[in-house]
Amino acid sequence: MADCIFCKIAQKEITSALLYEDNGVVAFKDLEPQAPVHVLIIPKKHIASLLVACPEDRALIAHITCEVIPKLARELGVAEKGFRVVVNTGEEGGQSVKHLHFHLLGGRSMQWPPG
Ligand code: 5GP
Ligand code: ZN
Repeated sequence: MADCIFCKIAQKEITSALLYEDNGVVAFKDLEPQAPVHVLIIPKKHIASLLVACPEDRALIAHITCEVIPKLARELGVAEKGFRVVVNTGEEGGQSVKHLHFHLLGGRSMQWPPG
């Protein structure tokens, strides 16, 4: 999608060191990390948010949550101690980039409730 920063990263129009890539997914470090480990995992396909993900996106989302994120958590050394996965959705949810993304945060103790 034109003018979507994450589409540009996924399509390599903007260079970003990728920590993971497959046919449908890329992962890269957040520009403004909120924890020692802060990785964004995104579908290559433009999906505006979790709210508008279609039934046919289910397999892709399950792949991200059940396979890609656990694999990255292990590789980045946060699987054992624990980590947090965040999907900010919509304005009050704090979503600033309108391309579905999963934050993987770890390497420190997380607080609850989040701010
Ligand atoms: P949101 O607030 O939408 O849940 O998260 C968007 C995240 O994308 C933020 O944590 C922000 O730091 C990150 N971000 C925004 N633009 C870029 C970029 O161009 N490159 C990278 N690596 N991260 C970005
Ligand atoms: Zn996009």
